[in-house]
Amino acid sequence: MSAHDLVVRGATVVDGTGAPGRDADVAVDADRIVTVGEVSGSGATELDGRGLVLAPGWIDTHTHLDANQFWDPYLTPCSRYGVTTVVLANCGYALAPLTTPEQREYVIEALVTVEQVPRDAIDAAVPFDWSDHASYVDAIARVETALNRAVLVGHLPVRAAVMGPEAACRRAATPAEIDAICALVTDGLRLGALGFSTDQVVGNVGPAGSALPGQVCDDAELLAVARALGSVPGPGLLTMAPRALLLDAEHRRADLAWHEQLAAASRKPVVIGPVFDTYDEPGVGLDLLDAMGAAQARGRQVVGQVSPRPFELWTRLDAPGVLVRVLPTLSAAVQAGGADAVRHLARDPEAMDRLRTEGARIRPSLIFSGRWDHVHIRYSPRSGDLRDRDVETIAAARGEDPVDVLIDTAIGDDFETQFAIAMRSPDDARLGALVGHPAAQLGGSDAGAHTQSNTDSCYAVWTLQHWVRERGVLALEAAVAMLTSRQADLFGLRDRGRIAPGTHADLVLFDPARVGIDDVRYVADLPAGGTRLVAEPVGIAASVVNGTVVTRDGNITGARPGTLLRGA
Ligand SMILES: [Zn+2]
Repeated sequence: MSAHDLVVRGATVVDGTGAPGRDADVAVDADRIVTVGEVSGSGATELDGRGLVLAPGWIDTHTHLDANQFWDPYLTPCSRYGVTTVVLANCGYALAPLTTPEQREYVIEALVTVEQVPRDAIDAAVPFDWSDHASYVDAIARVETALNRAVLVGHLPVRAAVMGPEAACRRAATPAEIDAICALVTDGLRLGALGFSTDQVVGNVGPAGSALPGQVCDDAELLAVARALGSVPGPGLLTMAPRALLLDAEHRRADLAWHEQLAAASRKPVVIGPVFDTYDEPGVGLDLLDAMGAAQARGRQVVGQVSPRPFELWTRLDAPGVLVRVLPTLSAAVQAGGADAVRHLARDPEAMDRLRTEGARIRPSLIFSGRWDHVHIRYSPRSGDLRDRDVETIAAARGEDPVDVLIDTAIGDDFETQFAIAMRSPDDARLGALVGHPAAQLGGSDAGAHTQSNTDSCYAVWTLQHWVRERGVLALEAAVAMLTSRQADLFGLRDRGRIAPGTHADLVLFDPARVGIDDVRYVADLPAGGTRLVAEPVGIAASVVNGTVVTRDGNITGARPGTLLRGA
């Protein structure tokens, strides 16, 4: 008979509080940690931690895995990175309540349009056998997942349920409608939702070109929602993609006053994300975090979520994306004949000369600075050595023009190359200053969304690889605290995010010298045959959810010990 269900032996325990790591054994009985120190008795399962770090599992508070949970109970790739808890329904895109077919269609199309979750997969795998919040919570509680999940109430379905989808994306709510919206919000909170989410970003576009509820609602509505959040016990966060996200520094600073008003109305945290830097207004991200720190000192919990990765737009060269549009000669070729016309263009010296001139004179825009050092190759099936290098550096090393690097790489890859324009936070050092800011929270993974153009769900292992090991911006203990206890405290997840006797046994065991990501590749594992981009994890030896091992050496074990976490 073993003394314990699980023992992790001899690891350096980084407990999530920020305290220095120390060598210890950790014993687990059932789903809780019972001992941190010397453990003499054996475990029914033993993990050898020698040479490794044991930390609380990562808590990813910004995901869009609402549909994915129905076809991927292992919530990959998050689980393979050592994430043990995910928060769903960010930015307003929740899947309940849904009481009519029209509401359902609207909510699905919003998830497809804004977050780029594949429609075919949703149609094939999501049962939609619920109507209100209560039946939805029952439905997802029946889904057994590897990781713990928590949900938010989403602005889109709530508004569509009260006003109908047509009006929900067109006009302000009446006082009676606002009351009904708030009733649905408190209903969701009482059933365990951690808070409320919305998307106010000026520039985001909803289904069929429509506006988003967060864009057309008036301030009275969200202030009423904030008061509703404050009226129920529990975390009651208001999380939002803010109005001025893509606007200039002046608008972004002004927006903060609005967030402070909301925090004052709810007396709960208001989480704003992502906060980032821009190429044309360097330092604006730091200013915002400073201002949020000052607001916090005044008792307003306005919290900035910083993505530890540059905010990128991934694009190919055979379709009319951003990179193609800024080069008129290339754009004409793509429109005339796609990939074949681009191959033809590459053999035309005159056209290539024109293209090089255009490439040197790109007018900076909100989206693209026009600088080739802000364009990285993130995926190249045939030229793996170019991955994560920027086009300017590659061109300089070869003595070529950046445009030649673009065209040659794309043709060499049969146009599968993904070029990433750093829309925001293009500068590594300035992004490092944001990541290291005392008021910063880490987040912005967007797991489950943007399946063809984003791999930021690796944000936790990336933080350890890049900001701890490669850049030295964060100490390991500080990074672990940001990925664990600080998320648990902000989102009101009790007894999680720390390694201590009595806490839930959510753990990740990793090699600090190797942890990070390797290849980015397409995986064809979505329902209805869809593909998605995945960054392969490295250096994760094991992860544990509620005392059960869910991954070993980066592979899923098949266990599904996750629970649905409730805030209230
Ligand atoms: Zn989001």
